[in-house]
Amino acid sequence: MLRFTLFRFPITVRPGHFVVAALLGWPRTAPDADSLVVWAVFIVTVFVSVLWHEIGHAVAIAGYGGEPQIALYEMGGMTQDVSSLRVRPGQSIVISLAGPAFGFALGGLLWGLALALPTDLGEVGRAVLRNALFVNIGWGVLNLLPMLPLDGGHVVRSVFEKFTRGKGTRPAAVITVATAVVVVAGALYARMFFAAFLFGALGVQAFRLLRNHGEMLDDERLVEPLQDALERLGEGDVDEVANTVFRVMERAKSEPVKNAAVELMAWAALTRGKLDEARKIAAGRTDIEEGDDSLLDMGIDAYGDDPADAYARFSSLDRPVGELHPAARRAALFAALRSEPAGAATALFAEQAGPGDEALYTAAAERLLIDGFAYKALDLAEARLAAGVQDPALAEVAHKAAAFDHDADKAAHYASLAETWRAAAGADQPGRAAADEADA
Ligand SMILES: [Zn+2]
Repeated sequence: MLRFTLFRFPITVRPGHFVVAALLGWPRTAPDADSLVVWAVFIVTVFVSVLWHEIGHAVAIAGYGGEPQIALYEMGGMTQDVSSLRVRPGQSIVISLAGPAFGFALGGLLWGLALALPTDLGEVGRAVLRNALFVNIGWGVLNLLPMLPLDGGHVVRSVFEKFTRGKGTRPAAVITVATAVVVVAGALYARMFFAAFLFGALGVQAFRLLRNHGEMLDDERLVEPLQDALERLGEGDVDEVANTVFRVMERAKSEPVKNAAVELMAWAALTRGKLDEARKIAAGRTDIEEGDDSLLDMGIDAYGDDPADAYARFSSLDRPVGELHPAARRAALFAALRSEPAGAATALFAEQAGPGDEALYTAAAERLLIDGFAYKALDLAEARLAAGVQDPALAEVAHKAAAFDHDADKAAHYASLAETWRAAAGADQPGRAAADEADA
C-alpha cells in the first residue's frame, strides 16, 4: 500500500491499481520496444488521471468544509469525506461533477498542447496522446452514465434526493438497471465483451440492492434523524429523543430501522437511569439472537449487576471507547468506574471522556479518593476545575484530597470554593420556588 499526501489530501494507492492498468494497456499485437514504451506510459497515465479525477472531487468536498480522503484501488478511485459534514443534495451534485470536470479540463489541455506543437508527435507520441485523451475524456463520459456507483449515478441520486426529501437511492438504482440493459445490449452488439461485463455487473449489483433492501431504501430518510437523536442523547435531550423515536416507529417499514428505533428508546431509558425499563425495551428487538452481544447489551450490564464484564467487553471492541456514541461511551466509562482499579479507570476518563461526561469525572475523582489515591483524585479534580467546571461536589473532593495530602492551604481554598458554590446553588432554590409560586 502506497501512502502520501498531495495538496494536503491523504492518499492511499493499492498495488492492484497498477496491475489492472497494466492488464488494460497490454499491447494487442506482439510487443516491441515502441509498444512497450506506450504501455509503460499508459500505466502512469491511468495513475495520474484517476488521481487527478479524485482530486477534483476532493477539492469540491474541501470547498464545502469537509475532510476528503482519496483511495486508488483496482477498479479506479474513490474519495470519501471523513468529517461529520452533511452536504445538501445540490452540493453533492457539484462534488460528483467535479471529478469528471477536472478530467475534461486535463484532457482538453493536453489536446490543445498537442495541436499547438509545431512538430509531429511521431507514432509513439500519437499513441500516448490518444491514450491520455481516452482516459481523461472517454472514461469521463462513461463515468457520467446514470448508473450507481458511477459519478453520473450519484448525480441522479442527488437530484431525486432533492425532490423526494432523501429517498434518492431507489429511483437511482432503478435507472441503473434500465441503463445497464441498454448499455450491455449495445456493447454486445459492438462485440465489446469486457465493457458488457463491467456495466452488466453494475446492473446486477443495483438489482440486488433493490431486491434485498427495497424496504430499507424506503426508510432511508429515517436513518439520519435516528443517528442525530443518538448523538443528542449525549446532551441529555431525552424528551426530544423520545419524540424522534415515536415518529420513526410510526413510519418505518423495514426491520433494521424499527430495531434501530427500539435500541435508541432503550438507550434513552438507560440514560434516565431506568434499568428495568431499558431491559424490557431491549427484549423487543428482532435482530438479536441468543448469544449476540450488542453495544446496548453491554450498556445494560454496565449499569446492572456485571459492570466488570461489561467493561471488559467494551474494551475488546475494535474501536476506542471515545469513538462510540455518547450514551454508549458514558456506559463504558461508568462500567470502568464501577469495576476497574481506580487508577486505570481514571486513565480511561482522561483519554476518552467527552464534554457531556462531567458528572462522571466527579464520580471518578470521588472513587479515587475512596480507594486511597488522594493525589490522583486531586490531580483529576484540579484539572476539571481548571477547565472551568463549577461543581461544589468536585471542589469538595479536591478539598478532602488536599487535606489527605497535608496541603492545608489548598484544602482551605477548595473548602471555601465548595461552600461558595453550594451557597450559590442553595440561594437559587428559594428564588426558583418563589418564581414557581408566582406562576401558579
Ligand atoms: Zn468520480
